[in-house]
Parts: sequence; structure tokens; C-alpha cells
Amino acid sequence: MADLPDATRVLIVGAHPDDPDFFCGGTVARWTAAGATVSYVVVTSGDKGMPDPSLDPVAFSRMREAEQEASARTLGVTNVTFLRLTDGEVFDTLELRALLTAEIRRFRPDLIVTHDPLTRRYRQHPDHRAVGAATLAAAFPACRLATFFPEQVAAGLSPHVVGRALLFGSDQPDTFVDIAPVFDRKVAALEQHASQASAFPGGLHTRVRQWAEDAGRPAGLALAEAFLSVDLE
Ligand SMILES: [Zn+2]
Repeated sequence: MADLPDATRVLIVGAHPDDPDFFCGGTVARWTAAGATVSYVVVTSGDKGMPDPSLDPVAFSRMREAEQEASARTLGVTNVTFLRLTDGEVFDTLELRALLTAEIRRFRPDLIVTHDPLTRRYRQHPDHRAVGAATLAAAFPACRLATFFPEQVAAGLSPHVVGRALLFGSDQPDTFVDIAPVFDRKVAALEQHASQASAFPGGLHTRVRQWAEDAGRPAGLALAEAFLSVDLE
């Protein structure tokens, strides 16, 4: 599939500030342009990404949150929620599943987008695996069954069925989104993450273009983002 997947409400769950933008910022720009409502949940605030370890981690986290909010605005995202777990120390726990189930029941997406927890690309941040696993556990079956986290249901967050998940960072993508028309917007969003600029000594634009070319090659697209699609109905 090389079309934009149909969605009206999209929840994107990333481990760190900038993950949603790096992995699917072009697709987000296309969804918001098509009239979809897109919201981010960011599980940590990226305090391990400090270029200088003498900085104050709390102040640095707030700066990364502000960068994430600016980047999301560039792509037309309406809301960013930060769960503020400690960067680098995320596990697929019942507590994280409960937090994510509450976010899903609150926002009520038809489509959820997160990290592929089972990719064999082993050079991956462990937080990405944990967030992908916990998000999928929340999306199926926890959020649809009132017997999961009944205290949320009692508080007014009724069960909700998510139709589909798209997983980014997958080694087996089957869904490719053409981002050529919005590529410059994706780069402009990523440029908002100024504290991370030193991670791209060759230049952000060049690296992001290379990734998009690699992602698009199997589908014959010049610039793409690639996902593994999972039916949750
Ligand atoms: Zn990350």
C-alpha cells in the first residue's frame, strides 16, 4: 500500500521528544492537511539526551518539551501530552499500560501509531521497544474491555476500540506513505529540536532525506515513511 492510510483521529505514541517527528512527521503533515485530528503522547521528556551532562536535567526536559510542542505545531498537531517517565528507564509495565490506556480512552483514536516492539533491527533504543509493547497492549485488548483498569471506566473513561495500529521502525514494513510533497515541512519540524542538532554532524536535512529515500525504495517512492500495519478490529 502506498496511499495515506485513512484516519480521522490519530494518536501517536513516541518514547522521546522528536520520535514522532522523525518516524512519521511527513505522514502527520499529510493527515492534518487532509483534515484528521492528530495528537501526540510522548512517554519521556528526553533528559538523557543532554549534550552537556552538567546541565540541569529538569530544565533540559522542559526545553525538550517546548521543542516538541513547537515541532508538533509545525505539522498541525493539536495536542502533545508528556507522561514524564525517566528517559532510558522505560519498561513495559502495568503502570505504563494503564497510563496509555487512559490516553486512548480519553482521545478515542481510530488509528494509533507507535514503535515496532519486535523489530530485528537490534540497534534500537530499548525505550522504543518498551513503548511499542506497552502501547500495543493498551490498544489491544485493554482499552476496549471495561474489565481492564475499571477505575478509569468508573471515572468516566469508557472503553474504546482502536481499529488499526501502524508501527514505525519496523524491519517488515508493508505500508508506505509518499512524503515528497511535505518533506520540507518535516525537516522544518525537526529543526525545532535544536537541542539535538549536534546528533547530526552531517546536517539534519541530508540525514532525513537519506532515511526517506531508503524507506521509499521498496515501494518505488522517491521519499517515504514506512510502517507495518496491524489490524486491531
Ligand atoms: Zn527515541
